[in-house]
Amino acid sequence: MIKLEKIISKLDEEFQVNVFGKDPAFSRFIPQVYDPIDFNWKSAFEKGFVSIFNGLMIKGAPNVHRVFLAVFPTDHVLKTFISTSNTGDLLFMHHPLLMECGDPQGEWGEGFVPIQEKYIEQIKEKQLSIYTCHIPMDCHKSLGTNAAIAKALNVASIYKNEGNEFILYGTINKTNTDQLMTNLLPIFDIPYVDFEGQKRENIEHVAIVAGCGDVVDWMKEAEQNGIQAYISGEIHCHIDNKYGKYKYNQMMEFAKDTKMSLIGVSHSASEYLAHRTVIKEWLEQHIPIQTVLIPQEKWWL
Ligand SMILES: [Zn+2]
Ligand SMILES: [Zn+2]
Repeated sequence: MIKLEKIISKLDEEFQVNVFGKDPAFSRFIPQVYDPIDFNWKSAFEKGFVSIFNGLMIKGAPNVHRVFLAVFPTDHVLKTFISTSNTGDLLFMHHPLLMECGDPQGEWGEGFVPIQEKYIEQIKEKQLSIYTCHIPMDCHKSLGTNAAIAKALNVASIYKNEGNEFILYGTINKTNTDQLMTNLLPIFDIPYVDFEGQKRENIEHVAIVAGCGDVVDWMKEAEQNGIQAYISGEIHCHIDNKYGKYKYNQMMEFAKDTKMSLIGVSHSASEYLAHRTVIKEWLEQHIPIQTVLIPQEKWWL
């Protein structure tokens, strides 16, 4: 059993949560999803959280037995956490909201989805805690979402794209597009990848962008930098609204002419990898505390 306070201060320090300040994404998306349904998120979530949108979101009992690790708060993840935890246990996620990005071989997604109020109530009744860490985790050099992918792919000589902390460039052992796509499936535990662009015989230089890599400017820049395969959570936006369709079309325009292989492994799986590997290890060694993984019921959603 470890004090919640101790875990939170270690996490805050490691991820420099306060140094990053307001999360540029969730400071917009949390009000955007909760305000229209009249949910008082400012009083439901911890004070610190509603000012910077990272860190301790719901505070439960003072002692933690186990830390549960998940990426998005899907109903399945929350139900599993609530039913299998003990009072005081902590759920550590990357996003405080579910993001439905759509399935390239199935339905388009809804975008950001609020946590159902009944789960927030059950979490509070059982005195459980939730901690989330978004941009500070994406940028972390060893526990980050990109860092975890680079590690799993044995990326050598990682070099940063100056001015963009969300992309890593690096080299892998010589491969081709088909082989690379096959190798990615078990790493992310996904049934298929999303693919656009050209299949290539020789791939050594890769770009890694966990989560939303469907940014045409980033892709163009990668290509100019000699990148042969662009690996991301999303190479396409499959969000079923005007914005999603606009981004989808923009990307398809680019895909017609690119010489790169563009490979998507799903937004959630691309970010869950960090929880499953580097963060799990770090918690077990540095806190140290027992961890429990809660994989999502489906990665392409
Ligand atoms: Zn991310
Ligand atoms: Zn994300």
